[in-house]
Amino acid sequence: MLLQQEREQVVEYGRKMLERGLTVGTFGNLSVYNEKENLFAISPSGTDYFKTAPSDVVVMTPDGEKADGDCKPSSEVDMHRIFYQKRPGIRSVVHTHSRFATTLACLGWPIPPLHYLIAYSGREVPCTPYVQFGTYELAQCVYDTMGENYACLLGNHGLLACGGNISYTMDVAEQIEFCAELYYRTRVAGTPKLLAEHEIEVVLESFQHYRQK
Ligand code: 13P
Ligand code: ZN
Repeated sequence: MLLQQEREQVVEYGRKMLERGLTVGTFGNLSVYNEKENLFAISPSGTDYFKTAPSDVVVMTPDGEKADGDCKPSSEVDMHRIFYQKRPGIRSVVHTHSRFATTLACLGWPIPPLHYLIAYSGREVPCTPYVQFGTYELAQCVYDTMGENYACLLGNHGLLACGGNISYTMDVAEQIEFCAELYYRTRVAGTPKLLAEHEIEVVLESFQHYRQK
């Protein structure tokens, strides 16, 4: 079986995505890229995360060809592979329907720098217009809108996060959900006080050295 370790990570982190309240039911999807093999493992479409086995995970090429697996890959396979094709250093992509991020995506509100944890994405979390799920058009639109950030709201749909490994990418999805909740709550309560440009630049710099080596 190709990409055994990456398939196991897709199963493990798919469960974590539900346990951390980051998606609803079988929705959302996730993938892990193996740069050496130039292949990625992606969750099967419409499958219960707690009933998914490593053998159900599908292995694909960045060009969109199936390399291994019996199941149908996620309907959002294009939205994953476009990052492996076009953004060096991205080795994992996570798509969620987390509640506050999706609320903002339905309002069409990008997330500004109101809390320093926005740095998990970059200087902001942009938001795309609405595009039909499971299309290459959506993949291209998310890729273009995300720019150099690591997260993007999908208009009237959900969130996409990406990063250098699956554990970190899941953290991006979780911390951006936290920022989305804060932004929604502060907008409802009043006018959020945003960080200044120089303040977010300092946070981005300190994030380079934060955590263990
Ligand atoms: P899949 O089950 O095909 O991955 O689709 C879920 C989803 O969230 C589509 O946007
Ligand atoms: Zn979705």
